[in-house]
Amino acid sequence: MSILSKFDHLAQTYDRLGPADSNPLKVTFDRILSSTEGVINGRQTILLGTNNYLGLTFDEGCIEQSVAAVRSFGTGTTGSRVANGSYSGHRDLELAMAQFYGRRHGMVFSTGYQANLSMLSTLAGREDYLILDSDSHASIYDGARLGHAEVIRFRHNDPDDLFKRLRRLKDHPGSKLIVVEGIYSMLGDSAPLAEIAQVKRETGAYLLVDEAHSMGVLGATGRGLSEAAGVEADVDFIVGTFSKSLGSVGGFCVSDIDGFEVLRVACRPYMFTASLPPAVIASTQEALRRMIQEPGMRVRLRDNAERLYHGLSSLGFQVGPQASPIVSVAVNDNETAVRFWNMLLHGGLYVNLALPPATPTNKPLMRASISAAHTPRQIDTAIALFADIGQRLGVIPSREPVALV
Ligand code: PMP
Repeated sequence: MSILSKFDHLAQTYDRLGPADSNPLKVTFDRILSSTEGVINGRQTILLGTNNYLGLTFDEGCIEQSVAAVRSFGTGTTGSRVANGSYSGHRDLELAMAQFYGRRHGMVFSTGYQANLSMLSTLAGREDYLILDSDSHASIYDGARLGHAEVIRFRHNDPDDLFKRLRRLKDHPGSKLIVVEGIYSMLGDSAPLAEIAQVKRETGAYLLVDEAHSMGVLGATGRGLSEAAGVEADVDFIVGTFSKSLGSVGGFCVSDIDGFEVLRVACRPYMFTASLPPAVIASTQEALRRMIQEPGMRVRLRDNAERLYHGLSSLGFQVGPQASPIVSVAVNDNETAVRFWNMLLHGGLYVNLALPPATPTNKPLMRASISAAHTPRQIDTAIALFADIGQRLGVIPSREPVALV
């Protein structure tokens, strides 16, 4: 028996999704032509599953800054900041992030995943409680597992359930940390943050908001759901990532809490991993500047999101509860979903396929994410393809007879 035998079932499921050129989990981009187009299996393809919300991955300024940083500082830092020291870029980016959010402290991490691992495992200790939305991202659950706090889940986006659970803890002396997301990554819905902030105030808990998918997307200046909901003063910790709106990689946390700096020697996923490379720091800084200086990108993103969301929902597809840059179409069974995904790809459209149990509704999802850089024509092409294939597979009713090929 192999040490990997315990994964036999998983391996079978993975292989059953098809051979390399049609298996959604093995997809390879031969080339990336722009932030919205690439080449997959030799075919030019519209990219509609990249989280590249502002389309900044090919921004000339970001590329220039990145190249200049490689020339000045080299390709990597080759170590952790605690052991090997920080580069000036790390500090500059932390200052820029803190300033953007109007907070006193900022810390950057090598990924968004590690930002959550760090904060969740460290902020809440042995006598404390983590109160997590049940649809939380894996990095939040993993952070909870890495730490020692008691973990309590409340019903997704349900402030009353949150309140009930916190009230039961009122005689327990430990700190309570509520964790929610600005935009949930699977269905694109947002936390009811004003109500959650009220529960936080009433119960004396702390509040952490993961703005991974909402920074650069929501709020008058792009600070995310906390800004859009007008409750920034109630949010103790904002966590996010550079891998979506800012088009690079890395994570961050900003806060006003006294004593924040101790986290640099307390968060193990910060201390024991190599720091962000100079090129990444530099392009992130430039992308942040662009995001701040060009609010028009957010307007285009919102328009594009609405065009895709309303286009698909008016065809009869089952989409998430609100228009957002993440638009997911639910399909009844895995087999149809894999076929759907492959037919879209053959038609020149790449979206993500999310399969249960990784989906909140336990139904497979064709998950699209839109960018400010998509043209109305690309979006209309995508909607037309969804319509055609959706009818052929019986996911939506046929408007006119179509032959199944
Ligand atoms: N938080 C949320 C809500 C996410 O969706 C993700 C990634 N999709 C992360 C954190 C992790 O970010 P990263 O991929 O940049 O590590």
